[in-house]
Amino acid sequence: MYKMETERVTQEIRRRGAKRVLVQLPDGLRPAALTLAETLKETTGAEIILSGDSCYGACDLSLNQADAIGADLIIHYGHSPMMKTEIPVVYVEAHIDFPVKPLVDELLPHIEGWSTVGLTATVQHAHKLAEVAEALESTGRRCLTGKGRGSTPHDGQILGCDYASAATIADDIDGYVYIGAGRFHPLGLGISTGKPIAMANPYLMTADRLNDKDVMRLAMKRMAAITAAKEASRYGVIVSLKPGQYRLEAARALVSRLEKMGKRATVICLDEAGTISLGNFTEAEAFIDTACPRIAVDGVADISKPILTTVETQVMLGDRKWEDVWGSSYLD
Ligand code: SF4
Repeated sequence: MYKMETERVTQEIRRRGAKRVLVQLPDGLRPAALTLAETLKETTGAEIILSGDSCYGACDLSLNQADAIGADLIIHYGHSPMMKTEIPVVYVEAHIDFPVKPLVDELLPHIEGWSTVGLTATVQHAHKLAEVAEALESTGRRCLTGKGRGSTPHDGQILGCDYASAATIADDIDGYVYIGAGRFHPLGLGISTGKPIAMANPYLMTADRLNDKDVMRLAMKRMAAITAAKEASRYGVIVSLKPGQYRLEAARALVSRLEKMGKRATVICLDEAGTISLGNFTEAEAFIDTACPRIAVDGVADISKPILTTVETQVMLGDRKWEDVWGSSYLD
């Protein structure tokens, strides 16, 4: 289903004269990774090495691995560029095509009464939004797409930690259509904009409306986490070493802010926040997550202690009000 762009990648490797190439793919693309590596080796003569570590986003570039193996090029699949790097990186967004008309037909019952629709998608589907707009406009609706910017270069593109371009059209629409799979992005869009969300899944060719009760349930869960974290006296402040998530200065500032309030706080730096990496810090009564907001909002399996995002920590500290961030800049 995914466009692997093997020809373009081959040309890029040849054009740059790369001799050793590190190829990074998200989990969903790994079943075909060995074939891809063999093909690229054959077409370019370069040594192709696959990264086996996580590849959750463009925040997760394998710069250390590339350095360790002496790679002169990284091919990063599944995401669009987020940061400048010393080592050259070729991004392959792995677009997926789907028939637009049948998916829009599935969507229509879920956007009844919406005269102006905001369009959003993950990077795999953002190239189809103009076609989705055309199909929706043929039903008499108006469509708006937020301008791409920064780490979301495509119009309408959203990330689990960046809904800013979608938010620019929030005041002018009745609700958002999200093209993609899963519920994390639509929930994030809902809590970052306060708007109704209709979800169209191009893998299953199904559509649904994000239930207001799910958004309320998440709000209650996050409020409870903030209240519980406020009671804590000892915190672990998580700093991820993933290049696009690394926020040591922000973590240090939070530690000193907490210490001024008479609390104890220590930075924990790690590559990936997981059950084992966090669970053994049993003295921590709560965690603060300066890395990917998904760690806090989705939770970490078997960790029952509160984990707050930096925005939630600001609410806990009284620097920001819940009602000012929920439905506007909650995942910023
Ligand atoms: S920080 Fe998290 S949500 Fe943002 S791009 Fe990385 S993995 Fe995705």
